[in-house]
Amino acid sequence: MINLKDFEVWFVTGSQHLYGEETLLKVAEHSEQIARSFSAHSQIPVRVVFKPTVKSTEEIYNVCQEANTAKNCIGIIAWMHTFSPAKMWIGGLKILQKPLMHLHTQFNRDIPWDSIDMDFMNLNQSAHGDREFGFIMSRMRLNRKVIVGHWEDSAVLGPIGAWCRVAAGWHDWQGARFVRFGDNMRFVAVTDGDKVEAELKFGYSVNTHGVGDLVKVINEMSDAETDKLIAEYEEKYAVVPSLHKGGAHYSSMQAAARIELGIAAFLKDGNYKGFTDTFEDLHGLLQLPGISAQRLMSQGYGFAAEGDWKTAALVRAMKVMGSGLDGGNSFMEDYTYHFDPKNQMVLGSHMLEICESIADGKPKCEIHPLGIGGKADPVRLVFNVAGGPALNASVIDMGNRFRLLVNEVEGVAPEHDLPKLPVARVLWKPYPDMQTGCAAWILAGGAHHTCYSQNLSSDQLADFAEMAGIEYVLIGKDTKLHQLKKELQWSEVYYR
Ligand code: MN
Repeated sequence: MINLKDFEVWFVTGSQHLYGEETLLKVAEHSEQIARSFSAHSQIPVRVVFKPTVKSTEEIYNVCQEANTAKNCIGIIAWMHTFSPAKMWIGGLKILQKPLMHLHTQFNRDIPWDSIDMDFMNLNQSAHGDREFGFIMSRMRLNRKVIVGHWEDSAVLGPIGAWCRVAAGWHDWQGARFVRFGDNMRFVAVTDGDKVEAELKFGYSVNTHGVGDLVKVINEMSDAETDKLIAEYEEKYAVVPSLHKGGAHYSSMQAAARIELGIAAFLKDGNYKGFTDTFEDLHGLLQLPGISAQRLMSQGYGFAAEGDWKTAALVRAMKVMGSGLDGGNSFMEDYTYHFDPKNQMVLGSHMLEICESIADGKPKCEIHPLGIGGKADPVRLVFNVAGGPALNASVIDMGNRFRLLVNEVEGVAPEHDLPKLPVARVLWKPYPDMQTGCAAWILAGGAHHTCYSQNLSSDQLADFAEMAGIEYVLIGKDTKLHQLKKELQWSEVYYR
């Protein structure tokens, strides 16, 4: 569903006419070589497209204008091989709508000690040319990523690739559509928010359909398609006997598969990238969507429950960013705690809807009653999740701004079977420790709903917040509560 090679990042090198034809030819040759090697490199998931060197106000304006309207261009990598007087960049940077990474590199890795002369110095002057460019971006108060080092160094290639993934997630949000089946869970605060402001800031729209519109589509799904999907369930999951054909709950299996087909058709037909539902509004739906939400998430759709459109959109963006990487991204909820002083941790889960992409091993397909919602027992996938580094991310609406809050965590491999827990579950230890991590999250107003990620870094989410121009708060290994409180206070002034 998401192929990052569909996207382009443009490699734009700045210079000026001062140096003469010979130097400019070298500049272009070097730039093209760098762009081509980036494009072919396994650490960089998108196509990197070489653009002719820009040397004047007009050329810079034109490339920025083209980038804005180029459908597959998700961002620009800018590099000043020579000195590019930065007043020339004002007009272009003023209109540039795509994210920009400033790559502070130079073509040669080493100084050629024996042969270096003034011709070499004239050609290879990014050490100061890039400072001129940095100044104008700072002067214009523009957000950008700065990456420093030799372009062939994997310590540089890794961050470039990581940034390209973030730019892809950001690009994906622009014009994206999310659908809500039913409204917000009644009286809940954190899942609600300003959808108009979200569309202004984030570029995606959120609109509601009565669940009846969905039920109509579900009811149109054929028995043949339903049987085919059940066969897929049988193949991919360890299905409990009662859900097999002839089993006591086979009709629930059919209903579950039909719900998945219906939601998938609805999303495809409306060109939606994700959805929310709510157990308080299931009129005409036989079960709360369980396995369908789990499977559609694993296909790349954003999802969150109880009408939580901010988290659904975040899950989608993070799925785009993590596309093709090991590990997954899932809707998550901090559910319950283990307060053993020697081994404190969080059990994360939801009523049903944890994405299959984070499952460790073959999920079980089961059916159990659901305490709320008053509907038939929903079919769901039940699985454990492996340990390892991970994070939880949450977008909240602070009234005058959105805040992206991230807590780095360590996933914990399960030590117990939890035989009576009928849902997928994750265990983790928040950084820097349970007390500080949870207190910081609560002080920062983080939601109980998050996107749990096994393959994205907090740096990437910081870049994402910068692209969106929203507040970013990290709770990580170095977090101290008194410092975090001050950060939140200072931020209050910054955004006033
Ligand atoms: Mn919830």
